[in-house]
Amino acid sequence: MTGAILIVEDESAITELIDLTLKRNGHQTICAASAEEAIRLIEHALPNLALIDWMLPGTSGIELIKRLRANKRTQLIPVIMLTAKADEADKLAGLDIGADDYITKPFSPKELIARIKAVLRRRAPQLTDDIVETNGLQVDPAMHRVTFNGETVSMGPSEFRLLHFFMTHPERVYTRVQLLDQVWGDHTFIEERTVDVHIRRLRQALEGSGHDDYIQTIRSVGYRFSKP
Ligand code: CA
Repeated sequence: MTGAILIVEDESAITELIDLTLKRNGHQTICAASAEEAIRLIEHALPNLALIDWMLPGTSGIELIKRLRANKRTQLIPVIMLTAKADEADKLAGLDIGADDYITKPFSPKELIARIKAVLRRRAPQLTDDIVETNGLQVDPAMHRVTFNGETVSMGPSEFRLLHFFMTHPERVYTRVQLLDQVWGDHTFIEERTVDVHIRRLRQALEGSGHDDYIQTIRSVGYRFSKP
């Protein structure tokens, strides 16, 4: 489920248009016609980003964003608010409660994709194709390749995602549940000790370059990527 963009919009014609645009640009999508449905979907798996319409039946888009921001598990989901309101005061209200960006209907597919890219780059660098490097160790998401001083470092796909996430979020401690949410996109169907298994494999893969010491265990909390 990791990689999906959640579209929360009650007008089906707009949902279809956004859905098509995103799929054409290589994104997976999940659609919800109400805030309540969105909350149910998010409970199952965290999206990479949420596009949330302001005017929804029942719980409003604004209220949904407030709820996401108030919950520890969902507070980091990048959010772009969709609205017909071009009013400056409304725009500020949206940003004020924690939307990362704001897009006014009608918008072009090109503008939508550009905004999504910009927000992901700022809020979720592990989801972009930018190359990251730490002390000679380089992760190239577009090529799906890890190298150390130009030599390929082999590892499995889960270890790759884990390393990429760590390298884009250094110096911060993450619990196993947070890592499951951020790296696997799902904390409900995968056991926490799965994280330990992949951490062990990742350390083994990094032994050759000496970066295994960067993967640090923080007792009774979780893991951190940091210079030893
Ligand atoms: Ca609407």
